[in-house]
Amino acid sequence: GSEMKIRGQRIVNMGVKILTQHSGVPGIDTFEVYRKQGGYAAVEKALKSMSPEEVLEEVKKSGLRGRGGAGFPTGLKWSFLAKPEGVPRYLVCNADESEPGTFKDRELMSRNPHSLIEGMIVSSYALGANTSYIYVRGELFYVIRILEKAIAEAYEKGLLGKNILGTGYDLDLYVQPGGGAYICGEETALIESLEGKRGNPRIKPPFPAVSGVWGCPTVVNNVETIAATSWIILNGGDEYAKIGIGRSTGTKLISACGNINQPGIYEIELGLPVEEFIYSDEYCGGIAGGKRLKAVVAGGSSVPVLPANLILKTIAGEPRLMTYESLADGGFATGTMMGSGGFIAMDEDACIVRNTWNFTRFYHHESCGQCSPCREGTGWMEKVLHRIEYGHGKMSDIDLLVDVAAKIEGNTICPLGDAAAWPVGSAIRHFREEFEWHVKEPRLSQQQNYGLAAY
Ligand code: NAD
Ligand code: SF4
Repeated sequence: GSEMKIRGQRIVNMGVKILTQHSGVPGIDTFEVYRKQGGYAAVEKALKSMSPEEVLEEVKKSGLRGRGGAGFPTGLKWSFLAKPEGVPRYLVCNADESEPGTFKDRELMSRNPHSLIEGMIVSSYALGANTSYIYVRGELFYVIRILEKAIAEAYEKGLLGKNILGTGYDLDLYVQPGGGAYICGEETALIESLEGKRGNPRIKPPFPAVSGVWGCPTVVNNVETIAATSWIILNGGDEYAKIGIGRSTGTKLISACGNINQPGIYEIELGLPVEEFIYSDEYCGGIAGGKRLKAVVAGGSSVPVLPANLILKTIAGEPRLMTYESLADGGFATGTMMGSGGFIAMDEDACIVRNTWNFTRFYHHESCGQCSPCREGTGWMEKVLHRIEYGHGKMSDIDLLVDVAAKIEGNTICPLGDAAAWPVGSAIRHFREEFEWHVKEPRLSQQQNYGLAAY
């Protein structure tokens, strides 16, 4: 653990483990071991001694925010759920994790499936849902199998189905394999796909809280968000809110990758300084090969990239922290976003142009094609970035990219358009010289990336 003072507030990183508390326990994926470790105690507590409103109240008090990327307050989202008489309500777990650099949910589900099922029961109870779904990324066959086995165990032990633990509460839980497209993780596209249609995002409003699955009120929450609710119910929302700093309460799973010594998934207390996360042996263990840090994409590929000086410190010279607020400090001029916690570190030899092209190629491929700015714009950006990267770029291409990105941003049905535009805009904002160098010295820039012999 460590201790420091920022804006007069004492931040102690005690290394609290909530989502990874069972990490390393052999057989934790089985009902028996999970139960022995204290599992399903939150279901007993919630269903036997709390009303749904009381469960919601604890989640509100906890300050828990959506861990899929948007960081929307979970309790508030739950309180938006419409409750018309005689209409069913649904909880859908978004387990379609596909954000480049983000690989936390699949580990949580495959290692500790019962922790998600427990969270699903508690959360469904709070929302008054009697049917709930876990929509799992289609490629993750093994995760689907693990979840289905764990769900069957939970049914067998009376934790799912009719009259759970004799409390009179009924819940059916289904696993739905995803449609195999990144866009199916966007909540309204996910709902379309769950209904058996092509995963095209719907226009919001209406939000799913009013009109979701089969037109009924629906809450869509990320795996990590739902898994955290069990601890909150057992320990109280106030206890959860004590962890972290300000409006960034609790812990967050960060999947760290790129040029670091110790890639992996870390459960951090929100408020941890970015510098400590990158350099301490407890987390990333510094930059691989003793090289210098060049840039970081902190929240999965959909957020602005920041150069080393800005990711480590804010413009005011304060240490940047792993919180929703601190990472966003300075807006998009000098800040970025927490996003899904996909932390990609790039060393001094990484090519920003190539990386930006690679991200853009991904968004172009994954665009559902419904709106012109996204469908056409991602394609144009991909083509222009490709020609700069492969040595055929013009100086005017750089401003052309800025222009196309700006025309996509804010003009599309779903956030995929913004997500495609931000990495391009920020890469040029912070690394324009590198783009210019690719145009001026195409052979040298290619030598750096591929070696001259190949080209
Ligand atoms: P959003 O801000 O539009 O919505 C957040 C949530 O709050 C949604 O569930 C929405 O329905 C709800 N909400 C907001 N206002 C509401 C209102 N007035 N009434 C009722 N409900 C309301 O963002 P989003 O589209 O859910 O998520 C975008 C984020 O997803 C991006 O920032 C990105 O980081 C992340 N993302 C994650 C992955 C991944 O694999 N984990 C992939 C792509 C994108
Ligand atoms: Fe489809 Fe892109 Fe429009 Fe989203 S922004 S609805 S992915 S075309």
